[in-house]
Amino acid sequence: MIQLPLNRDNVIQAVFLERPNRFLVRCITDERGVLDAYLPNPGRLWELLLPGASLYLYPTMDPEGAFPSQRKTRFTVMAVQREESPIFLHTHITNQVARTLIEKGEIPSLEHARVVRGEVTRGRSRFDLLLEQDGKDLYLEVKSCTLFGNGVAMFPDAVTQRGRRHLLELAEMANAGIRSAVLFIVHSPKVTWFMPDFHTDYDFSTAFLKARDRIMILPIAIQWTPDLTLGPEVKSLEVPWDYLRAEMRDRGSYLLILKIDRTMALEIGRLGTHTFSKGYYVYVGSAMRNLRTRVKRHLQRRKKLHWHIDYLTAHTGEMIPLPIRSSRRDECEIAKALLSIMQMGPSGFGSSDCPCQTHLFFSDTNPLHIRAFHDVLKGFRMTHP
Ligand SMILES: [Zn+2]
Repeated sequence: MIQLPLNRDNVIQAVFLERPNRFLVRCITDERGVLDAYLPNPGRLWELLLPGASLYLYPTMDPEGAFPSQRKTRFTVMAVQREESPIFLHTHITNQVARTLIEKGEIPSLEHARVVRGEVTRGRSRFDLLLEQDGKDLYLEVKSCTLFGNGVAMFPDAVTQRGRRHLLELAEMANAGIRSAVLFIVHSPKVTWFMPDFHTDYDFSTAFLKARDRIMILPIAIQWTPDLTLGPEVKSLEVPWDYLRAEMRDRGSYLLILKIDRTMALEIGRLGTHTFSKGYYVYVGSAMRNLRTRVKRHLQRRKKLHWHIDYLTAHTGEMIPLPIRSSRRDECEIAKALLSIMQMGPSGFGSSDCPCQTHLFFSDTNPLHIRAFHDVLKGFRMTHP
């Protein structure tokens, strides 16, 4: 088990190259060259793990706390640098932080609570901490939140069935009179609001909204200093419930990232034949009703060809949908923003009914590896009252 504070002498700096799988990153260090390190975080972390990002590595430890461990990955990713501050990625560290702050009485609503034990099983689930407050049990689940921007923090950054199940089970426990709380720890003090990420995980967000009256929702922001120690500030974040109820519906706009494996000419209905280059295309659309169904339709390979995009999706490799749920139809604004950072696709593609030149854009590198693309996404997703 990792203990805070970390021994600074053991920390080494690395530059992120790629993430071959969910729990592995490839990086480069001055002394050891290219190496693979263990990443103890199941999140997507797209906007943090961009090529060139600075990482903090630590020797991988045995479960007993000894190192170096005999594991194949001799180093573990602890944190990533963003805007001059480290953002901790090691999820066990977040549990440590929760314990420390509870013991110091620094979490609003959990003052006078005492940690009884960690990793507590109840029913089919295991929760992070069992607390005792005013002589009563309180089950606490701790979530680490690294997705933030525009003063807003959102969780989760990838669909989490486990997270949703935890909310449902804690809410059910409340029916039996058992108290519980979910502590969301945001690793940056530059935020004011906390929301479930209803763009990415609509089901988790729905469960979050429903659980409101039965589970204590405690979002806080902490700060890390450049030497990887916890700063003194603990800030309570606001959940804008009314705003959530208004915006969190299954409607809005979406991006569809399409990978084209080889350059080819395709006939796009009445738009005629166009050449599509090897690389990545981003399509912008909207559905002010049933956004989820629309996106699902795009992902189906075999269907009746109706929209321009249908002619393209029949021939693409990987497709990644990025919903942007909102009460506003933002698709043309999003197209305008993408035009400033990407190349234009065929004129008139997906824009027969609007003044835009096109709703299809091209990039020879994966847009998910480009900071400017994440800034556009953030601009439309991370909105607040
Ligand atoms: Zn348009």
